[in-house]
Order: sequence, then structure tokens, then C-alpha cells
Amino acid sequence: LQARALRVSYGGFIALDGVDLDVLAGRVSAVVGPNGAGKSTLFHCLAGTLRPSRGEVRLGGRDVTRVPAHARTRLGVARTFQQLAVFPSLTVAENVRVGAEQGRIADPGAVERALRLLGLDGPVRSLPAAALPTGTLRRVELARALAGSPRVLLLDEPAAGLDTDEVAALARVLRALADDGTALLVVEHDLDLVAGLADVVHVMAAGRIVTSGPTSQVLRALGSTDPRDPLDPAAGR
Ligand code: ADP
Ligand code: MG
Repeated sequence: LQARALRVSYGGFIALDGVDLDVLAGRVSAVVGPNGAGKSTLFHCLAGTLRPSRGEVRLGGRDVTRVPAHARTRLGVARTFQQLAVFPSLTVAENVRVGAEQGRIADPGAVERALRLLGLDGPVRSLPAAALPTGTLRRVELARALAGSPRVLLLDEPAAGLDTDEVAALARVLRALADDGTALLVVEHDLDLVAGLADVVHVMAAGRIVTSGPTSQVLRALGSTDPRDPLDPAAGR
């Protein structure tokens, strides 16, 4: 999935200004930056929930800029939501089945595989989503996205509300997906998750990508900054 020269303005305010990004198969790419940098806006352009005023989004070379979100999901672009968006009255397994129905291919095995991969194949599978804790709901969301057998997986702040162990478990699952060839994009405040997971990091500030490179290199550069630096993760909380 590629973004080329994306520009988004909300009224007169330019939220994205000439953004290029490649989300490559078999790799975890991360986008970091403080609140208001434009990360979610970029994410929405890639997912198809927002149409840029300029620029292109391409999937496997095909221009999908004008393809709406549900049709992109069918083409293999799955996503999770920063604000959790599971169906509260449906059970865990039913929520995951919805993902299979919306996805790229109708693979009956994909639901069970996704439940297993996320540790949701025990008794929890039959519980309504409404009463489950955040950590479990994040796994339900991810399982739902995976049940459609996506080629590209877009994650907006997947570590939000998770404890250290849950973040480590999430990182293992995401790494395994990338190793199987999925293209992953993670938009994230939690630099610990990014450090342990991403292959490439893009740093956003004020609507632009200001730095890109291998994770260790970019995070090392971020570590030696002053407290007012827009790249400081603390500035984004
Ligand atoms: P991030 O995800 O990095 O915190 P966003 O993409 O959510 O940043 O927001 C980028 C900028 O665009 C912010 O200044 C935000 O206030 C503004 N913005 C986001 N969505 C809207 C909207 N629907 N209308 C007007 N301004 C918006
Ligand atoms: Mg955001």
C-alpha cells in the first residue's frame, strides 16, 4: 500500500502536507509523532475513510484513492480502530465472524485461526463483547481484522490501554503476521512497542513526515532530543 503526495485540509487547516509512505509486504512500518501530527488523518486516507484533497493511494500498483473503505477491505486492506469498535451484544466469535464476511476471501478456517492466534479460542469465545476488559477487546478487534485474510493490516494505537505483558504478546502476534508476508502499518504513541516491533519508523510532525529510517536509527535520534522536541513521546500524551 502506497501513499503519494497526500494532502488533507480541514477547512483552512492543512492536516497532511505532501506525505509519501510505503507499507511493504513482510514488514512492520510504524508512524510515530505527537498528538495532532496527522497520524490518524494519514491512517484514514490509507483505510479509505477519508479522501485526500490531493495525492494518491495505491494498492499493489492500482489507484484506490477513490475506493471507499468497505471496498478496500474486500481488496485486502484491514484495520483496527483507535476507539474500540466491537459489537457489544455479539459474542467474541460472532464479532470475529463479521470480519471474515467483510474480508478479502471467505475462508471458513480463517475465523478459527484468528481466534487461536489471539488466544480467544477458549470459553471467552462465547461471551458477549460488552463486558470484556480493554486488553481482550483489542485482541477481538485484531482477530476480526485478521479473519478476512488481509494483505495489509492498519493499526491505529493498538497498544492503547494494554499492560506491559499484553503489549509484548501483541508484538509477538504482529511480528508473526509480518513474517508470514502481511504488510503492517502501526500508528503508535508507545515507543516501546515500536522499538521491539517495527522494521521502519516514520516520524510525523505538523502534517509531514520529517524523518524515516530503520527503527534503531530513528529511535536513537529521538532519544537525544530536548523536552520540547515534537518527537518526544511524552509530548503526545
Ligand atoms: P494525530 O492522530 O497525530 O494525533 P490527527 O490526524 O488526529 O493527529 O489530527 C491532525 C490535525 O488535524 C490536528 O490538529 C487535529 O486537530 C486536526 N483534525 C483532525 N480531524 C479533524 C477534523 N475532522 N476537523 C478539523 N480538524 C481536524
Ligand atoms: Mg490519532
